[in-house]
Amino acid sequence: MAVCARLCGVGPSRGCRRRQQRRGPAETAAADSEADTDPEEERIEAGAAALAGAGGGRGAGPSPPPRCSLLELPPELLVEIFASLPGTDLPSLAQVCTKFRRILHTDTIWRRRCREEYGVCENLRKLDITGVSCRDVYAKRINPRVKSGRFMKILPDYEHMEYRDVYTCLLHRYRHILGLWQPDIGPYGGLLNVVVDGLFIIGWMYLPPHDPHVDDPMRFKPLFRVHLMERKSATVECMYGHRGPHNGHIQIVKKDEFSTKCNQTDHHRMSGGRQEEFRTWLREEWGRTLEDIFHEHMQELILMKFIYTSQYDNCLTYRRIYLPPSHPDDLIRPGLFKGTYGSHGLEIVMLSFHGKRARGTKITGDPNIPAGQQTVEIDLMHRIQLPDVESLRSFNELSRIVLEVREQVRQEQQQREEDGAEDGEGRAPQSPREPQRGPAQPSVELPAEKGGGPADGEAAAAAAPAPEQPAQSGQGQPFVLPVGVSSRNEDYPRTCRMCFYGTGLIAGHGFTSPERTPGVFILFDEDRFGFIWLELKSFSLYSRVRATFRNAEAPSPQAFEEMLKNIQSLTS
Ligand SMILES: [Zn+2]
Repeated sequence: MAVCARLCGVGPSRGCRRRQQRRGPAETAAADSEADTDPEEERIEAGAAALAGAGGGRGAGPSPPPRCSLLELPPELLVEIFASLPGTDLPSLAQVCTKFRRILHTDTIWRRRCREEYGVCENLRKLDITGVSCRDVYAKRINPRVKSGRFMKILPDYEHMEYRDVYTCLLHRYRHILGLWQPDIGPYGGLLNVVVDGLFIIGWMYLPPHDPHVDDPMRFKPLFRVHLMERKSATVECMYGHRGPHNGHIQIVKKDEFSTKCNQTDHHRMSGGRQEEFRTWLREEWGRTLEDIFHEHMQELILMKFIYTSQYDNCLTYRRIYLPPSHPDDLIRPGLFKGTYGSHGLEIVMLSFHGKRARGTKITGDPNIPAGQQTVEIDLMHRIQLPDVESLRSFNELSRIVLEVREQVRQEQQQREEDGAEDGEGRAPQSPREPQRGPAQPSVELPAEKGGGPADGEAAAAAAPAPEQPAQSGQGQPFVLPVGVSSRNEDYPRTCRMCFYGTGLIAGHGFTSPERTPGVFILFDEDRFGFIWLELKSFSLYSRVRATFRNAEAPSPQAFEEMLKNIQSLTS
């Protein structure tokens, strides 16, 4: 900020230097010697200059060196300049002098900061009733005080609200909670997206569509909102339950962690008691009634989830999650997917790429495999060539092919261990191909073989599946599930691009005796993949979550890896 307040010109130091160059050498030297002045000193200097300017006393006393002062610029230009600076710099700018302070009261400066830094697009003065939230659907349902789809005057008086207050007391104050989060809610996890929505900060819980419709869009419900009820103080409201917003609290525990608390949990209760609460929850969560769900085990699971999750009463701790970084060489774009998990219903899985492996990490979970765990791991070095559709109908045939690859993977690993090579993620397998495994080879395509000779860095590069490969291997190979493999959704794609060997994590209730078991990863298209769990004789279908998320990129690939490790360790 000191640079901007310097009295030699407008904007960044480069502008200053050019101006300096036009001056005489002596003046330049003087200006350069000033370059190290303390910002505090500069403020005082600027303040003094302002006073001198205001008093018109320029001629009095020893004449100051002729300089083009920022203070001499017309106010409208200063507004323009200040509006282009980061909002966080503006308070210190206000301390420079009274003129600056006065100019910083101009609300268009803050309006622009709200828009550019937080995406606020509403015009407060013309805030139309329906424009309060772009998802007013929820408001009609959630807020009982909303009549005929219009907000009543229960909303704060936006007529007199200033963008400066919105910026400082709402957006800046709560900036650390924007983005994607996973609640700590036992094995179940979840996906919370905190966004600036109109003049609110809203925490939307994203829910998968109803089982088994993986291609349907995600559903969301608001868990809390923050807004300015009064000019200078933000109000947090709990949105849980069906009786409208009520008093809540948010505590930012530490970086990348915050918790919410409801201060009026009686608002979550329904007149019909637990019965009614359960039925309402069931209708929302599953889109049906308990009578519709004939499967006894499934009924138990559903009831257990209700009892477990409702006890939190929206008092939850959240940990930040990032979307996976993507790379042009990735098999498909990484991201979030909705997947079928048998009796557990649909769950949210994050697909990410790690050199020669791809991973599916659970963002939501269940009592068997909790959120945070790696549900599937795909070995991108071992493709599986499916037999023709007729042979594919035979489960035994598929099983034979997969188990052969597993054996091969095991031998390669053993070889690597004997060679003392690190099992680095980005490296190609070090073992030479085993020539004695003749008959098994046709069903397995090993990209590394193309290189011939011992695998080195180059072979590793060649081994990474190039995005062009699907076309070359037949973009639309017929696919059908083997007889006996159960699928929640009969509506799975009947052609696939390619398949890989993979492992899927299975465990007993309570995540007991977890075990990675062999399976087949089937890539259908850019937005859908499947996994055949060989031991379970079951098939999961995954479909991309198409929502766009702001403030969800990992600051670095390391930060992403760290995040994955953290969420996994919490439920291990
Ligand atoms: Zn509440």
